[in-house]
Amino acid sequence: METLIDERLEQYALDHTQAASPLLERLEKETVSSRRDHVMLTGRGEGQLLRLLTKLVGAKRVLEIGMFTGYSALSMASALPDDGELHTCDVDPEAEAIAKRYFAESPDGGKIHVHMGPALETMKSLDAPFDLAFIDADKENYPNYYEPVFELIRAGGLILFDNVLWSGKVLDPQDAETRAIHELNERVHEDDRVEHVMTTVRDGLLIAQKL
Ligand code: SAH
Ligand code: CA
Repeated sequence: METLIDERLEQYALDHTQAASPLLERLEKETVSSRRDHVMLTGRGEGQLLRLLTKLVGAKRVLEIGMFTGYSALSMASALPDDGELHTCDVDPEAEAIAKRYFAESPDGGKIHVHMGPALETMKSLDAPFDLAFIDADKENYPNYYEPVFELIRAGGLILFDNVLWSGKVLDPQDAETRAIHELNERVHEDDRVEHVMTTVRDGLLIAQKL
Protein backbone atom coordinates (compact mmCIF):
# COMPACT_ATOMS: atom_id res chain seq x y z
CA MET A 1 0.00 0.00 0.00
CA GLU A 2 1.14 3.50 -0.67
CA THR A 3 1.86 5.33 2.51
CA LEU A 4 0.11 8.64 3.07
CA ILE A 5 3.13 10.22 4.67
CA ASP A 6 6.86 10.21 3.89
CA GLU A 7 8.09 6.61 3.99
CA ARG A 8 11.04 7.50 6.19
CA LEU A 9 8.72 9.06 8.75
CA GLU A 10 6.41 6.04 8.59
CA GLN A 11 9.47 3.88 9.29
CA TYR A 12 10.59 6.18 12.12
CA ALA A 13 7.15 5.90 13.70
CA LEU A 14 7.30 2.10 13.40
CA ASP A 15 10.79 2.07 14.90
CA HIS A 16 9.33 3.79 17.96
CA THR A 17 6.28 1.57 18.31
CA GLN A 18 5.96 -1.43 20.61
CA ALA A 19 7.38 -4.64 19.15
CA ALA A 20 4.91 -7.29 18.01
CA SER A 21 4.91 -10.80 19.48
CA PRO A 22 7.07 -13.38 17.65
CA LEU A 23 3.83 -15.12 16.60
CA LEU A 24 2.48 -11.95 14.95
CA GLU A 25 5.84 -11.44 13.25
CA ARG A 26 5.64 -14.93 11.80
CA LEU A 27 2.04 -14.40 10.70
CA GLU A 28 3.03 -11.19 8.92
CA LYS A 29 5.92 -12.97 7.16
CA GLU A 30 3.79 -15.90 6.05
CA THR A 31 1.03 -13.59 4.79
CA VAL A 32 3.50 -11.48 2.80
CA SER A 33 5.14 -14.53 1.24
CA SER A 34 1.99 -16.54 0.48
CA ARG A 35 -0.69 -13.97 -0.40
CA ARG A 36 -0.57 -11.64 -3.37
CA ASP A 37 -3.14 -9.41 -1.61
CA HIS A 38 -0.95 -9.12 1.51
CA VAL A 39 -1.16 -5.30 1.51
CA MET A 40 -4.53 -5.81 3.23
CA LEU A 41 -2.74 -6.98 6.37
CA THR A 42 -3.07 -4.44 9.17
CA GLY A 43 0.57 -4.60 10.25
CA ARG A 44 2.37 -3.70 13.42
CA GLY A 45 1.70 0.04 13.71
CA GLU A 46 -2.04 -0.17 13.33
CA GLY A 47 -2.17 -3.53 15.11
CA GLN A 48 -0.60 -1.95 18.18
CA LEU A 49 -3.08 0.96 18.00
CA LEU A 50 -5.97 -1.52 17.87
CA ARG A 51 -4.54 -3.36 20.86
CA LEU A 52 -4.25 -0.14 22.88
CA LEU A 53 -7.77 1.02 21.97
CA THR A 54 -9.13 -2.39 22.99
CA LYS A 55 -7.36 -2.05 26.32
CA LEU A 56 -8.40 1.57 26.88
CA VAL A 57 -12.08 0.90 26.34
CA GLY A 58 -11.80 -2.06 28.74
CA ALA A 59 -13.29 -4.28 26.07
CA LYS A 60 -14.59 -7.73 26.91
CA ARG A 61 -16.36 -8.33 23.60
CA VAL A 62 -15.00 -7.26 20.23
CA LEU A 63 -16.58 -7.55 16.77
CA GLU A 64 -14.39 -7.64 13.68
CA ILE A 65 -15.63 -7.52 10.09
CA GLY A 66 -12.84 -8.66 7.78
CA MET A 67 -10.42 -11.11 9.45
CA PHE A 68 -8.15 -12.01 6.50
CA THR A 69 -5.17 -13.95 7.96
CA GLY A 70 -5.97 -12.82 11.49
CA TYR A 71 -3.40 -10.12 12.28
CA SER A 72 -5.84 -7.52 13.61
CA ALA A 73 -7.93 -10.19 15.36
CA LEU A 74 -4.90 -11.51 17.26
CA SER A 75 -3.76 -7.97 18.07
CA MET A 76 -7.10 -7.07 19.66
CA ALA A 77 -7.62 -10.48 21.30
CA SER A 78 -4.28 -10.04 23.09
CA ALA A 79 -5.79 -7.07 24.97
CA LEU A 80 -8.91 -8.94 26.10
CA PRO A 81 -9.27 -10.54 29.53
CA ASP A 82 -9.18 -14.36 29.70
CA ASP A 83 -12.97 -14.54 29.53
CA GLY A 84 -13.14 -12.00 26.67
CA GLU A 85 -14.50 -12.82 23.21
CA LEU A 86 -13.65 -11.62 19.74
CA HIS A 87 -16.12 -12.46 16.99
CA THR A 88 -14.68 -12.10 13.51
CA CYS A 89 -16.20 -12.50 10.04
CA ASP A 90 -14.75 -13.43 6.68
CA VAL A 91 -15.64 -15.16 3.41
CA ASP A 92 -12.21 -16.41 2.26
CA PRO A 93 -11.49 -20.03 3.30
CA GLU A 94 -7.80 -19.81 2.35
CA ALA A 95 -7.25 -16.80 4.60
CA GLU A 96 -9.25 -18.60 7.28
CA ALA A 97 -6.94 -21.62 7.10
CA ILE A 98 -3.90 -19.45 7.76
CA ALA A 99 -5.62 -17.47 10.53
CA LYS A 100 -6.78 -20.61 12.32
CA ARG A 101 -3.29 -22.11 12.43
CA TYR A 102 -2.03 -19.00 14.22
CA PHE A 103 -5.05 -18.79 16.53
CA ALA A 104 -4.36 -22.39 17.55
CA GLU A 105 -0.80 -21.48 18.50
CA SER A 106 -1.71 -18.33 20.42
CA PRO A 107 -2.60 -18.16 24.12
CA ASP A 108 -5.37 -15.74 23.01
CA GLY A 109 -6.74 -18.02 20.27
CA GLY A 110 -9.43 -19.47 22.52
CA LYS A 111 -11.07 -16.04 22.73
CA ILE A 112 -11.53 -15.85 18.95
CA HIS A 113 -14.75 -17.05 17.30
CA VAL A 114 -14.61 -17.22 13.51
CA HIS A 115 -17.83 -16.78 11.52
CA MET A 116 -17.51 -17.65 7.84
CA GLY A 117 -20.06 -16.05 5.51
CA PRO A 118 -21.11 -12.55 4.47
CA ALA A 119 -20.80 -10.30 7.52
CA LEU A 120 -24.22 -8.70 6.99
CA GLU A 121 -25.76 -12.16 7.48
CA THR A 122 -23.48 -13.13 10.36
CA MET A 123 -24.29 -9.97 12.29
CA LYS A 124 -27.96 -10.96 12.44
CA SER A 125 -27.01 -13.93 14.60
CA LEU A 126 -24.75 -12.06 17.03
CA ASP A 127 -25.97 -10.81 20.39
CA ALA A 128 -25.30 -7.30 21.69
CA PRO A 129 -23.51 -5.72 23.41
CA PHE A 130 -20.03 -5.34 21.96
CA ASP A 131 -17.50 -2.85 23.38
CA LEU A 132 -15.57 -2.30 20.17
CA ALA A 133 -16.06 -3.01 16.47
CA PHE A 134 -13.35 -2.94 13.80
CA ILE A 135 -14.73 -2.80 10.25
CA ASP A 136 -12.20 -3.69 7.55
CA ALA A 137 -14.00 -5.87 4.96
CA ASP A 138 -15.50 -5.12 1.51
CA LYS A 139 -15.51 -1.36 1.11
CA GLU A 140 -18.73 -1.25 -0.99
CA ASN A 141 -20.61 -2.40 2.10
CA TYR A 142 -19.20 0.19 4.52
CA PRO A 143 -22.42 2.25 4.53
CA ASN A 144 -24.46 -0.96 4.98
CA TYR A 145 -22.37 -2.08 7.94
CA TYR A 146 -22.85 1.11 9.93
CA GLU A 147 -26.39 0.71 11.34
CA PRO A 148 -26.21 -3.01 12.22
CA VAL A 149 -22.85 -2.42 13.92
CA PHE A 150 -24.22 0.64 15.73
CA GLU A 151 -27.05 -1.54 17.13
CA LEU A 152 -24.58 -4.11 18.45
CA ILE A 153 -22.29 -1.61 20.21
CA ARG A 154 -22.89 -0.45 23.77
CA ALA A 155 -23.08 3.23 24.66
CA GLY A 156 -19.50 4.39 25.21
CA GLY A 157 -18.16 1.68 22.89
CA LEU A 158 -15.99 2.32 19.84
CA ILE A 159 -16.72 1.83 16.15
CA LEU A 160 -13.59 1.80 14.00
CA PHE A 161 -13.59 1.91 10.20
CA ASP A 162 -10.31 1.20 8.41
CA ASN A 163 -8.99 2.54 5.08
CA VAL A 164 -11.29 5.56 5.17
CA LEU A 165 -8.81 7.66 3.14
CA TRP A 166 -8.41 4.87 0.53
CA SER A 167 -4.93 5.96 -0.61
CA GLY A 168 -6.27 9.49 -1.08
CA LYS A 169 -9.00 8.52 -3.56
CA VAL A 170 -11.75 9.88 -1.30
CA LEU A 171 -10.76 13.37 -2.45
CA ASP A 172 -12.13 12.55 -5.90
CA PRO A 173 -14.31 9.41 -5.79
CA GLN A 174 -14.32 7.71 -9.21
CA ASP A 175 -15.38 4.14 -8.43
CA ALA A 176 -17.96 2.28 -6.36
CA GLU A 177 -15.61 1.41 -3.49
CA THR A 178 -14.39 4.98 -3.06
CA ARG A 179 -17.92 6.37 -3.30
CA ALA A 180 -19.09 3.94 -0.61
CA ILE A 181 -16.24 4.87 1.72
CA HIS A 182 -16.95 8.57 1.19
CA GLU A 183 -20.66 7.99 1.86
CA LEU A 184 -19.83 6.25 5.14
CA ASN A 185 -17.42 9.03 6.13
CA GLU A 186 -20.12 11.65 5.53
CA ARG A 187 -22.73 9.64 7.38
CA VAL A 188 -20.61 9.25 10.50
CA HIS A 189 -19.61 12.91 10.36
CA GLU A 190 -23.29 13.99 10.28
CA ASP A 191 -24.38 11.54 12.98
CA ASP A 192 -24.90 13.27 16.32
CA ARG A 193 -25.19 9.89 18.06
CA VAL A 194 -21.40 9.55 17.94
CA GLU A 195 -18.31 11.53 18.84
CA HIS A 196 -15.69 10.97 16.15
CA VAL A 197 -12.23 11.67 14.79
CA MET A 198 -10.77 10.67 11.43
CA THR A 199 -7.12 9.88 11.93
CA THR A 200 -4.51 9.72 9.17
CA VAL A 201 -2.98 6.57 10.65
CA ARG A 202 -1.80 4.34 7.80
CA ASP A 203 -4.66 4.47 5.23
CA GLY A 204 -7.00 6.39 7.53
CA LEU A 205 -8.73 5.03 10.64
CA LEU A 206 -12.09 6.54 11.58
CA ILE A 207 -12.77 6.32 15.32
CA ALA A 208 -16.33 6.90 16.51
CA GLN A 209 -17.63 6.55 20.04
CA LYS A 210 -21.30 5.73 20.47
CA LEU A 211 -22.74 8.25 22.92
N1 SAH B 1 -8.31 -6.97 9.24
C1 SAH B 1 -7.45 -7.79 8.39
C2 SAH B 1 -7.52 -7.39 6.93
C3 SAH B 1 -8.89 -7.57 6.32
S1 SAH B 1 -8.82 -7.59 4.55
C4 SAH B 1 -6.01 -7.72 8.89
O1 SAH B 1 -5.71 -7.03 9.81
O2 SAH B 1 -5.12 -8.38 8.34
C5 SAH B 1 -10.51 -7.69 4.15
C6 SAH B 1 -11.14 -9.05 4.37
O3 SAH B 1 -12.56 -8.89 4.23
C7 SAH B 1 -10.73 -10.12 3.35
O4 SAH B 1 -10.13 -11.22 4.02
C8 SAH B 1 -12.04 -10.53 2.70
O5 SAH B 1 -12.15 -11.92 2.44
C9 SAH B 1 -13.08 -10.09 3.73
N2 SAH B 1 -14.43 -9.87 3.20
C10 SAH B 1 -14.76 -9.40 1.98
N3 SAH B 1 -16.09 -9.35 1.84
C11 SAH B 1 -16.63 -9.79 3.02
C12 SAH B 1 -17.97 -9.97 3.51
N4 SAH B 1 -19.04 -9.66 2.77
N5 SAH B 1 -18.13 -10.43 4.77
C13 SAH B 1 -17.05 -10.73 5.54
N6 SAH B 1 -15.78 -10.58 5.12
C14 SAH B 1 -15.56 -10.13 3.89
CA1 CA C 1 -7.45 -2.47 6.34
